[in-house]
Amino acid sequence: MAWDFETDPEFQEQLEWIDEFVREEIEPLDFIITSPYDLTDPVRNDIIKPLQAQVQERELWACHLGPELGGPGYGQVKLALMNEILGRARCASTIFGTQAPDTGNSEILAHFGTPEQKEEFLEPLLRNEIVSCYSMTEPQGGADPKVFQTTATQDGDEWVINGEKWFSSNARYSTFLIVMVVTDPDNPPYQQQSMFLVPTNTPGVEIVRNVGLGYESESDDHGSHAYVRYENVRVPKENLLGPRGGGFVVAQTRLGGGRIHHAMRTSGRVQRIFDMMCERAISRTTQGELLSRKQMVQEMIADSWLEMEMFRLFVLRTAWRIDKYQDYKKVRKDISGVKAAMPGVYRNIATRALQIHGSLGVSWEMPFTKEVMESFHMGLADGPTEVHKVQVARRVLDDYVPCDDLFPSAHLPKKRAEALTKYADVLERHLETQ
Ligand SMILES: Cc1cc2nc3c(=O)[nH]c(=O)nc-3n(C[C@H](O)[C@H](O)[C@H](O)COP(=O)(O)OP(=O)(O)OC[C@H]3O[C@@H](n4cnc5c(N)ncnc54)[C@H](O)[C@@H]3O)c2cc1C
Repeated sequence: MAWDFETDPEFQEQLEWIDEFVREEIEPLDFIITSPYDLTDPVRNDIIKPLQAQVQERELWACHLGPELGGPGYGQVKLALMNEILGRARCASTIFGTQAPDTGNSEILAHFGTPEQKEEFLEPLLRNEIVSCYSMTEPQGGADPKVFQTTATQDGDEWVINGEKWFSSNARYSTFLIVMVVTDPDNPPYQQQSMFLVPTNTPGVEIVRNVGLGYESESDDHGSHAYVRYENVRVPKENLLGPRGGGFVVAQTRLGGGRIHHAMRTSGRVQRIFDMMCERAISRTTQGELLSRKQMVQEMIADSWLEMEMFRLFVLRTAWRIDKYQDYKKVRKDISGVKAAMPGVYRNIATRALQIHGSLGVSWEMPFTKEVMESFHMGLADGPTEVHKVQVARRVLDDYVPCDDLFPSAHLPKKRAEALTKYADVLERHLETQ
């Protein structure tokens, strides 16, 4: 009987260390470090590198990876328990070597990379000596990758890339980009595109502009989602990542992990917002009593707790299934489900926390407007919620068979007739004795 909600004591000790380390050392960095991805920032390096060394000493570095790639290979359940804590602070993932999109990018490099590609791109990435970017979405459409227009054509031993990509996160800080491009337009739709490794300093790679999110200030120039133009960008044929025409397969390998890791961190993020909500409810008074005495506030607390707990269990069960099956394809319904549930839970709880804080909640002196906006981020990055709901519905329906009768199989008259037939002899016997 293996149905257990407890963490083993040894790992629990690690979690307690992580919890204190994140609260004491990492949470304050949200006020100091502009971007944990900016390796040229001396303040960032002075603070973050010694913290990364402490994490490595405790063997908690890059826990999404197996031992063959320098991680402890803890599996997804332990990673989920860790990521919940790391989700509390913006710099925490970088300090633990599990930051997106480098995690997903390292996953596909590990899976599809040649020995040379691993040496040049993967190894320094795993040591956080460089930063990577995943450049897939295009300005004319992201949710439907079949409309992508960026092309690569072969010219001798090189591929020449032309086109534009949109919302390529961290391109400005990156050493290389993983770019999805059309190489075989005559193939069936899902076999037309391929992935390439493109060093960001290759001539012809131009960042048209760095776009920020709604809560960021345009004048600060901190936007980290690049509009990138590729104009006659030449890369050697060895920079093809994975099979030619296999771009969709490579993308899926990356996105499965990426989505569940976002959900693990969101679980922690939501817990932090919930803590703020509860503290305010039992601290602030109105009409001579605490907010927590008002039934509508109680409803907000109860609804938030219920949604948060259900989401957390869903994330953990999905993590457990990934560990069990060791195959993302077998857990696609769960991952899409978690991905589809995440923005709603996040948004609901952030919105209620904002409301309970009144004018303070809507101000820039509390984090809630940013958190509400971030919930939309979670509903878009790695595919919009609607697309994941479609996936969930399709996979759920795969498990059902149609009823070939005019009335459904659960039609009560039919069920009653079946029951009467099944127990006819007993009923008859009783009728006789009455
Ligand atoms: C913060 C952030 C970071 C990102 N980072 C990256 C990155 O690093 N690299 C990268 O390549 N991309 C990145 N993206 C882009 C992300 O993958 C796209 O935003 C997403 O795929 C949606 O594409 P789109 O924005 O073009 O929206 P569109 O494709 O224009 O879709 C717009 C809306 O239409 C609706 N919709 C779309 N399809 C369907 C459907 N099938 N059924 C019903 N409704 C539908 C949804 O409401 C959707 O939000 C990032 C996005 C965000 C917000």
